[in-house]
Amino acid sequence: MEYKCSICGLHYETKQLADDCYKWCSSHSSCNLKVARQSVEASHRKRGA
Ligand SMILES: [Zn+2]
Repeated sequence: MEYKCSICGLHYETKQLADDCYKWCSSHSSCNLKVARQSVEASHRKRGA
């Protein structure tokens, strides 16, 4: 099960991370790199090489 931030569309393995991303996105309208780095997309990119 993955959790999605409905603002930026990134996916996270925990609801906590998705909530953090959502909160950040809704107040800053840009991505928090520290959070985005933990997204499913970012970790796939790292492993995929
Ligand atoms: Zn987000």
